[in-house]
Amino acid sequence: MAVEAKKPLLILGGGLIGLSIAHELAQEGRKVEVLSRRRSEAAGFVAAGMLAPHAEGLKNTLLELGQLSLKRIPTWVKKIEANSGMNCGLRQCGIVVPFLSATERDTYPTASFGEKLNRIQLEKEIPGIAPNWNSGLLFKEDGQIDNRRQLMRALEKACVELGVHFQEGIEVIKLLKNNQEFQGVQIKNAEGIIQDLISQEAILCSGAWSKKILQELPIFPIKGQMLSIQGPKDTLKRIIFGPGTYLVPREDGLIVVGATSEKNAGFTEGLTPFGQKELQQGINNLLPSASQWPHMERWWGFRPCTPDEMPIIGKSSLKGLWLATGHYRNGVLFASITAELLTKCIQRSSLNETEHQLLLAFNLNRFKSTGSILKNS
Ligand SMILES: Cc1cc2nc3c(=O)[nH]c(=O)nc-3n(C[C@H](O)[C@H](O)[C@H](O)COP(=O)(O)OP(=O)(O)OC[C@H]3O[C@@H](n4cnc5c(N)ncnc54)[C@H](O)[C@@H]3O)c2cc1C
Repeated sequence: MAVEAKKPLLILGGGLIGLSIAHELAQEGRKVEVLSRRRSEAAGFVAAGMLAPHAEGLKNTLLELGQLSLKRIPTWVKKIEANSGMNCGLRQCGIVVPFLSATERDTYPTASFGEKLNRIQLEKEIPGIAPNWNSGLLFKEDGQIDNRRQLMRALEKACVELGVHFQEGIEVIKLLKNNQEFQGVQIKNAEGIIQDLISQEAILCSGAWSKKILQELPIFPIKGQMLSIQGPKDTLKRIIFGPGTYLVPREDGLIVVGATSEKNAGFTEGLTPFGQKELQQGINNLLPSASQWPHMERWWGFRPCTPDEMPIIGKSSLKGLWLATGHYRNGVLFASITAELLTKCIQRSSLNETEHQLLLAFNLNRFKSTGSILKNS
């Protein structure tokens, strides 16, 4: 009797995290199949692409995860570019966080990692910055990647080149299991046909929608609206990360402006006048001259958030089902390290002490064992 070939490992969700893991596993020679409901709804196509562990003021283990990922991103990007033949738009441009006072600046959680700027130095870094900002922090190691126009497409192409199989327009509607063992998924295709897909292993990375597939996941959406303006090329060299609004200058002068943070919007789609006004006011408050620059695009999406605002990476309670979700507002930054950590788990590669500690910190069990949910502050 012929031995049945091992089924491909299923990636449930073809967003940024799913693609990053698919790419990493395919490089290890694994047979991978990505099931994706709607490519265009992925937050990977929405994000501003900041790589900002310091500018975001991350703390504790989350800062450690961000710093580790930031360090490995240049090598990660080179691999994606080599496998895809496409550029990812990585720019180590530095990020400036402006403050109203030196006291505010000096008490920022990541102040010790930044270069302190007084008003004159701030104006040198950000010509035209509004006069009320009188000090700042420059984080030279932080930067950006053009996720929306470049990285996502390059990742898709790299995966295809490495033999990853894609099924687009497929919704995972149910997990199939026997006792506590994962056995596959029930899917609905674009024509509404429902069928079972058998597999021994899968990774749940369905972003903000993850809870719909596995109820025990404490994931909820935080909507964000964005817009872009076209500035003169090279006018803004560094990212400005203001409170509530940031301006991210791409290589060609396009400036991505983000983002609203709407906790009560649920999955309500679309732009709102209030959200767009908030962004416009943010531009005026940070860089008044930019309020004259032409608007290019407006869009929105959903950040996958958890109660402690930290991702969930590692095992689930079902044998064979892995989790990589809840990356909230730093998923672009964390994509690389998430893919590496999870691939090591799946491939049973040896983990060093730091990796082991990170996986403990980001395991789903943290929400079960304490009974209460601690905020990462
Ligand atoms: C406005 C905004 C700005 C952001 N800015 C930044 C930033 O500057 N820097 C940063 O690091 N991060 C940023 N982020 C966060 C980052 O975009 C996310 O953390 C990251 O994209 C999450 O990736 P993901 O793969 O988990 O989810 P997604 O990229 O959202 O992908 C999830 C995919 O799963 C699919 N899916 C869902 N349910 C199903 C199902 N049942 N069956 C099949 N497929 C399914 C969806 O169609 C989707 O394609 C931002 C996010 C937003 C919204």
